[in-house]
Amino acid sequence: MMRAALLALSTRPAIGRLMERVPATRALVRRFVAGTTADDALGVLERLNGRGLSSAVTYLGENVAAPRDAEHATQTYLHLLDEIKRRNLNTVPSLKLTHLGLDLGERVCVTNLTAVLDRARAAGIRVWIDMESSVYTDRTLALYARLRPVHPHVACVVQAYLRRTPADVERLIDLGATIRLCKGAYREPPAIAYPDKRDVDRAYVRLIDRLLAPDALARGVYTGFATHDDRMHAYVQKQVRERRLAGGRFEFQMLYGIRPELHGKLVAAGLPVRVLVPFGEDWYGYFMRRLAERPANVLFFLKNLARA
Ligand SMILES: Cc1cc2nc3c(=O)[nH]c(=O)nc-3n(C[C@H](O)[C@H](O)[C@H](O)COP(=O)(O)OP(=O)(O)OC[C@H]3O[C@@H](n4cnc5c(N)ncnc54)[C@H](O)[C@@H]3O)c2cc1C
Repeated sequence: MMRAALLALSTRPAIGRLMERVPATRALVRRFVAGTTADDALGVLERLNGRGLSSAVTYLGENVAAPRDAEHATQTYLHLLDEIKRRNLNTVPSLKLTHLGLDLGERVCVTNLTAVLDRARAAGIRVWIDMESSVYTDRTLALYARLRPVHPHVACVVQAYLRRTPADVERLIDLGATIRLCKGAYREPPAIAYPDKRDVDRAYVRLIDRLLAPDALARGVYTGFATHDDRMHAYVQKQVRERRLAGGRFEFQMLYGIRPELHGKLVAAGLPVRVLVPFGEDWYGYFMRRLAERPANVLFFLKNLARA
C-alpha cells in the first residue's frame, strides 16, 4: 500500500517543489542522485570508472510539455556524449523518450533522438532507451524496432512485471536486440502488471532463462540484468556457469547509491557491472520511485526530516 501511495505521489511535482525547500531532503536525494549539473555527474562517472565499473548516465526529466525543454534535454545528452568521448569514459547515456518530447509528438522525439544517436554512433557509444509507464510501452518498442536496423548501437528496456513482456521479448530476440531487463518501477493496474512481488520475481527468472537461451544468443542478444536482487544475480551466475557462456553476452546493471557494496564483489568475481548515475534538477519522480521500492528508505527519510 505504501508503494502505491508513493508511486501516486511521484506524479505530483508540486510536492517535489515543496520538498526542495527542506535542506534535509536535498541531502537525502544526494544518496541516489549525483548532483544537479552534468559536471557533478561526470565527476561521479570518472570515479566509478576508476574503480573498474562501467557506467550509464541519465539526465533526469520526463514528460516535458514544451519543445524548448525537449531541446534542452537533447543538447545536454549531446554535451555528455562529447565529454564521455573527451574523457575516454566507459559510460553510455540512458534516456527517456518523454524527456526528448514524445508527449509533444513522435516527430519531435525522433528528431531529438536521432541527433543523440548520430552523435553516439560517431563516438562508438551505445544509447539505452529507458522504459517508462505502460502508456508508452507500444510506442517505445515500435520506435526501437524502427531505429534498430539503422542504429545498431541503440538498446531498449523490458519490465518483468508487465504480463505482455514475454511476447515483447520474443520480438526483440528476432531483432538480436540489446536489452535491459528490469522488474519495473511504475504504478500499473493488475490487469497488465503482476501486483504480487513473488510473481514479478518468477517472471524475471523466466526472462533470464529466455534471454540466455542458445537461440537468443545466436541472434546476438546482449542483456543488461538491471537488479539489486541477490537471488537474481545468483541465478544469472548459475546459468552462465552451467551453460558455459563466454563473456561479452551480458552485464549486471545497478542504480547509483543502491547496494554499492555489491559492486566490488561482482567485479572481483570477474562479472561486468554498470552503474547508472542520474543527475539533474528534476529529481523528484526518480527519487519517489526509489523510496517506493523500499520501506526502509521512507523511514530513513522521515527520521532525517524530523531531525532537520
Ligand atoms: C540500471 C537500472 C535501470 C533501470 N531502468 C528502469 C527502466 O528503464 N524502467 C523501469 O520501469 N525501471 C527501471 N529500473 C528500476 C527497476 O525496475 C526496479 O524498480 C528497481 O531496480 C528495484 O528492483 P530490484 O530489481 O532491485 O529488486 P527488488 O526486489 O525491488 O529489490 C531487491 C533488493 O535490492 C535492494 N533495493 C532495491 N531497491 C532499493 C532502493 N530503492 N533502495 C535501497 N535498496 C533497494 C534491497 O536490498 C532489496 O531487497 C532500473 C533499475 C536499474 C538497476
